[in-house]
Amino acid sequence: MEKIKQAFHRNRVTVMVIPNAEKSIKQWKLNLLAAFIILVVLIVINITLLLSSITSTVINDNLATKNTALTTDLIKTQDHIDLLTNINANKTEEIKTLKAKLQESNDFLAERLLEMEQTQAYVSQLVSLFNEETNSDVKPPVSRSFSREVNLSTSEETLAADEILLTEIDALIGNDEISTIISEQTEAYSELVSKLESQLTYLDSRPDFYPANGTYSSPFGYRKDPITGRTTLHNGIDISNKVGTPIYAAGSGVVTFAGYDGNFGNVLIIDHGYGYESVYAHCKSLLFSPGDMIEKGTKVATIGTTGRVTGSHLHFEIRYNGTPINPLKLIKSN
Ligand SMILES: [Zn+2]
Repeated sequence: MEKIKQAFHRNRVTVMVIPNAEKSIKQWKLNLLAAFIILVVLIVINITLLLSSITSTVINDNLATKNTALTTDLIKTQDHIDLLTNINANKTEEIKTLKAKLQESNDFLAERLLEMEQTQAYVSQLVSLFNEETNSDVKPPVSRSFSREVNLSTSEETLAADEILLTEIDALIGNDEISTIISEQTEAYSELVSKLESQLTYLDSRPDFYPANGTYSSPFGYRKDPITGRTTLHNGIDISNKVGTPIYAAGSGVVTFAGYDGNFGNVLIIDHGYGYESVYAHCKSLLFSPGDMIEKGTKVATIGTTGRVTGSHLHFEIRYNGTPINPLKLIKSN
């Protein structure tokens, strides 16, 4: 051992540094022990640096892997957010469209229901008039109503609630019940209205209005003629009153004759339709001409003494399909 120590001290090594051609060579003489220690120190430093480098590389690789994974996750999350945003926007748009449709539908229904209410008021008026005239008992169709309310919400946080809402709205829009109610009611009302209108036209035309004030002086039927004394058919009734007393149309219609006609003197004839005609004879004056439309109760002439008469009176006839009938079967007595 002592020998080895001595050998280290005795033996020397020379370390040379050769910079380049121009500069002089540097050299140090070291004993073997110092050289050995320096060599060992250098090796240790080298190994440490090498280990450090390897560790860094491994950590770097690890971090890079993690970074890639996080980037992938981030892209996926962003895609998912974009998808949800799109869905949400679509849903909102869908709800807006449905809302508009529902609004339109509600407006339409409100309009139809208003029309139905107006029709019902008109029908009720007609029915009361009709019933008054005929003592019949026609009733308007019973009004059927519906009541549906939908609370609309477009809150973007309540997608699930929106889904339920959409289903409800769809169901409401596609509901056949409402349109069925409206169709049925409209049909029933139209039918009734046209029936009542034609009834009213008929009632208005029917010659049943008492044509003049005065004394009911001669009935319809066979009687002894006041001038000839022979028994003949009296085709109408006589109402006596002073000259100039107003004569009224017994029903609505159109004047078909207004002029002088032998025994009748000044005579006015009104055609009422439905087979009815009324005749006003022995008038002083005639206030309308053929073709004139006359409403029931209008003053059309005045009582006179024209034609074959014994005193001032109205000779009033009603003809049904051309045949004189007893006017008292139609007219209401005053
Ligand atoms: Zn007469």
